[in-house]
Amino acid sequence: MRLNLWWSSRAEDRFEKWIAQRHQERVLAGDTTAAGPCPDDTFLENLARRSRKVALSDPRVDHAATCPICMNRLLALRRERRSRQQKLVFATAVAACVIIAALVTIARYEMGNRSLATNTAAIAETVNLWDTGAFRGQQPGPLQSVSLPAALVRVKIILPRFSSPGRYVVAVTHDPSGNGVVAEAAATATSSGNQEIIMADLDLRRATAGRYYLSTTHEQDQAAYYYPLEIK
Ligand SMILES: [Zn+2]
Repeated sequence: MRLNLWWSSRAEDRFEKWIAQRHQERVLAGDTTAAGPCPDDTFLENLARRSRKVALSDPRVDHAATCPICMNRLLALRRERRSRQQKLVFATAVAACVIIAALVTIARYEMGNRSLATNTAAIAETVNLWDTGAFRGQQPGPLQSVSLPAALVRVKIILPRFSSPGRYVVAVTHDPSGNGVVAEAAATATSSGNQEIIMADLDLRRATAGRYYLSTTHEQDQAAYYYPLEIK
């Protein structure tokens, strides 16, 4: 009667491995006699990867299992195969990492683009200085506060009565002497009726909320006017 012993497969594996190792040692030590000539490499390669092309009844299997030369070759082929598989696993892992990194980069890039698009949408603001008294240089005068958001602002400035036409430099500064420039833009005033209007893009995104000065400087006569500005 044949007993099927259903050991835990682990114990069975370990036992079979032990037998195989003892057998290998004996073969490699030349303690066995192999029948017939050594088979060719193709056969050993097929045997090493347990191909179905190899029938266990094939006498070459018996030979390979008892010949030290074939056993050595088989072990070498097995090692090559294993390292190839490990390299494949490693390459697959590397490829997966590269793909993940690429996806993360693309996602970040797209998010960056989106936030750039929302940030670069300039906020239109109008600053009406038509009836405003300004002061030249550090001369104090009747002031009217102007307010702008801490954003990219496309500001339409209606210059005070009697302003000259021409090119102006518009700036946001920390003090009324032109120091600590936060943002600056140059634009040519356009006449609308009897008003002179400047359209200027001011990047106030990095400005912290607080008190500043908005200045308009006529490029030709260098006359600068400062208006108290509050950035919110
Ligand atoms: Zn052999």
